[in-house]
Formats: sequence, structure tokens, C-alpha cells
Amino acid sequence: MADSKDTRPATQLAQALGIIEPAYGGLVPALHWSTTYERAPDGGYPKGRAYGRDENPSYDAAEAVLKQLEGGAEALLFASGMAAATAVFLALSPGDHVVAPRVMYWALRKWLSQTGARLGLAVDFADADDNDALKAAIRPGRTRLVWIETPANPTWVVTDIAAAASIAHGAGALLAVDSTVATPLLTRPIEHGADIVMHAATKYLNGHSDVIAGALIAREKDEFWARIRANRAGMGGILGPMEAWLLLRGLRTLHLRVAAACQSAARIARFCETHPACVGVLYPGLPNSPGHAVALRQMRGGFGGMLSIRTRGGEAGAFRVAGALKVFKRATSLGGVESLVEHRASVEGAGTPAPPDMLRLSIGIEDVEDLVADLDRALGAA
Ligand SMILES: *Cc1c(COP(=O)(O)O)cnc(C)c1O
Repeated sequence: MADSKDTRPATQLAQALGIIEPAYGGLVPALHWSTTYERAPDGGYPKGRAYGRDENPSYDAAEAVLKQLEGGAEALLFASGMAAATAVFLALSPGDHVVAPRVMYWALRKWLSQTGARLGLAVDFADADDNDALKAAIRPGRTRLVWIETPANPTWVVTDIAAAASIAHGAGALLAVDSTVATPLLTRPIEHGADIVMHAATKYLNGHSDVIAGALIAREKDEFWARIRANRAGMGGILGPMEAWLLLRGLRTLHLRVAAACQSAARIARFCETHPACVGVLYPGLPNSPGHAVALRQMRGGFGGMLSIRTRGGEAGAFRVAGALKVFKRATSLGGVESLVEHRASVEGAGTPAPPDMLRLSIGIEDVEDLVADLDRALGAA
């Protein structure tokens, strides 16, 4: 890992920090399947590992890369993005108050308002892109955690991380950021004041729609982080070694995939903006987008590969467009090499921030002209 701190993210990713497998000098780390480790005659563990539930060496390289990219003190892999996110909330205590965004990953919103509430968490949902609304949602003396997501699924509203950090810290609370869509290449939340960064590694970090995984990165290894660490070991739903190994393989091309997705998403946003069958484009990269000014400040190198379009003809019109697309695949999820389309309002149901005429697009790494032609034809046909 020599000198990795002097290199740039693309080099750190391509070489996985230059880690060399110690036994034979392989450029790719070995996969470790053992669930248990031999004790020395004195009963100790000379190699530092006891049991594979949360000490699998197959996690080490990907965790080291994510820690370095985010500029944190430690990174932990989880079995999914949801496992990572819920490990944070489960480190709180009953009665603790949480502020979460109104626009956020739907399954987590549902978990917070159902399971989180049942476990005694008091949760308020606020418009996190509005600093005054965020501040008003704080309950002095009770708020322990402010959770934000930026850009936020599925309308890509942007939250000012530095402002949210100062609001949270001013109230004695921590700030956690779901940075799945930004990736560590476009935004480094810890630099803007975040305490914990969460990624659904299932999405861009792995990037090939073949691994479910999650990650958390901490600014500091404090007492709250120790609880999160204990939750990973104690709740026991861990990532498999093969998934960790595949995740590291995916990470090696993250910079190329993210750059391509950003460039193509920007091109598609501009194309849709002027298309007569489109009545709106939600993308923080567009200069007239409400989140653009904040995005310019806290995103570097692009505005992400996610956008949503609003189509003529309401919900039926949106379904006709989705049904007519051929290159885009109709599927949930995001951040993979293939472009996806999904009608979010019908997936999310009551309370969704997605308008009925909206389609969410995850832009992959195909030739952008094929994607534009596909959209042009489908929008025209509908
Ligand atoms: C997918 C996703 C999650 C959940 O991740 P899983 O790996 O599917 O559990 C959380 N947040 C965002 C923004 C996501 O896109």
C-alpha cells in the first residue's frame, strides 16, 4: 500500500491501493473462505483474527479503498445498503429523535417509519434541501442523528451537506449521508462535515448489477461508531467473501463508469429538456435545477448518472414511454453498466415524492447516441 496517499482516486481504484497478495505476490487479493482461525498454544491469536463473522480478510482491500476515497477513519462492509443504513439507526437508543429527508431511498423511509418507530425512534421527515425546514425539524436536546441523502432518490433534490452538518452539530447530533448516487468520486461528505457516509455498494461501487452490498465510512472511530461495529458483528447478517471480492473488482473501474454515466446523463438531460413530449427534467446538472448552485459547490467532476423525466400524458403517458423503450431495460435499481427505466410513483405508493408522470432513468455506459435515439423514439411513439 506504499505511497497510495500520494496518488489520485483513479490510480487508487485501478490498483486497489496497490495491495499485493502476501503469500504469492498476486495483484489480486486471495479469497478467504475460512470461518475460523487457529489459536497459538498460549490461546492467543497471533494473526489477529478469531472468527469469520466480522473478521473476514476478504473485506480488507475494499474497506481500505473506501476509507481512502472518502477520507475517513474506518470503513465497514455490510451485507446490503439497507444493512449498512439500519446498523446506524440501531446504534441509537429508544426515545432518540432522528431527522430524515422527505425525499429518500424508499425502503429506508418505510423501515424508519415502521420498524424504527416500533423500536422507539422518534422520526421526523423534513425537506432537507431547505435549511430552514431542516433546522425547524430539530428537537433540541433530543435529536441525535440527522440523516440526509444527496442527490436524493427519485427526484434528485440536493442537500447542502455543510449546512446540514452545522445544523446537526449545533444541536449536538451527528450527520449521516447516504452518498450512493454521488459516489466518493463526485462528493466526499466527510470533507463537508459529515460524520458517517453510507453507500449502497450494490449500485455504482460494484456497478455490474451482480452483488448486493453496503458500506459505512466514519469520520472518527468514536463510541457511536463502536456501536455500529458491534451491530455488524452482533446482528450477524454479513457480506459473503465472494461478494466482497467481486466488489473490489467492480471498484477498480468506478472512475471510468462514473465519468461515462455523468457525461451521458448530462447529454440525455439536455436532450429531454427540449423534447416536446417531455414536460420536465429533474437533474442537478441543469443550470435551472433548484439544486444546481449547491451541487456546483459540493459535487466535483459531474452531477451523477441519475435523472428523472416527466412526460406528457400523465401516468399513462409515462407507462407508454417506458413500455416503448428498447435499449433501456425496465428494472429497478441503479448505478449499473446498463441503463434502466422505472416508474417510481407506482413502486413507492402513497406518500411518494415522485409525480405520476415521472420516469426514473439510471444511465449506464452504453453509447449515449443509442440511449438518446431510444428515448427519442419512445417519447415520439407515446
Ligand atoms: C439501493 C439503495 C439503498 C439500499 O441498498 P441495498 O443494497 O439495495 O440494500 C439505499 N440508498 C440508496 C440511495 C439506494 O439507491
